[in-house]
Amino acid sequence: MVLFVPGPGSDPLTSLDPRAPLVVDTRELGRRPGSQRQVTRTVPAPAELGIEVLMVPEGAPVELDLRLEAVMEGVLLTGTARAGLVGECVRCLDPVTDEVEVDLQELFVYDDTRGAELAEDDDEVSQLHDDLLDLEPLLRDAVVLALPFQPLCTPDCPGLCPECGADLKQDPDHAHDAPIDPRWAALTELDTDQPERRTS
Ligand SMILES: [Zn+2]
Ligand SMILES: [Zn+2]
Repeated sequence: MVLFVPGPGSDPLTSLDPRAPLVVDTRELGRRPGSQRQVTRTVPAPAELGIEVLMVPEGAPVELDLRLEAVMEGVLLTGTARAGLVGECVRCLDPVTDEVEVDLQELFVYDDTRGAELAEDDDEVSQLHDDLLDLEPLLRDAVVLALPFQPLCTPDCPGLCPECGADLKQDPDHAHDAPIDPRWAALTELDTDQPERRTS
């Protein structure tokens, strides 16, 4: 049995599109350690940025405020990303809107010589590809980590009535009569069917 093993040339990450919104060009730094560049841009959110119950809508603006600094091994990226969120309260299913701001920090090493060795030894290090860096994986991880796993419309949302599904936030006094004892329920049904013929 022969397994197809993709060679380095077929890795889609090795050819980044410099015009893609989340690809940052670092060539201006000229690989001179110490040189810096500020990048401020607003980009459309990629699909499924966030978690199932709370995410940045695809195409919604993500404000990036980044600082690139050339170091010996590559480019150190620091900065913030800010975006609006939409989701659903896990208790009452009402729409929830929120905002997320995350800190970004990552060392992107050059994809040759010393940098490549560093990247191989360390999973935490990302790689530049032709001096372009792909911000998307970093942004995704940071956003997911920053989100609450259980978004709520209000911290004390009472949720829905477990018996009838009524929204308890709209109707705080909502209550049901004490549940009927199942042993009597059968008799009650008889009563309704034959109201005039009670036997006791
Ligand atoms: Zn709620
Ligand atoms: Zn109810």
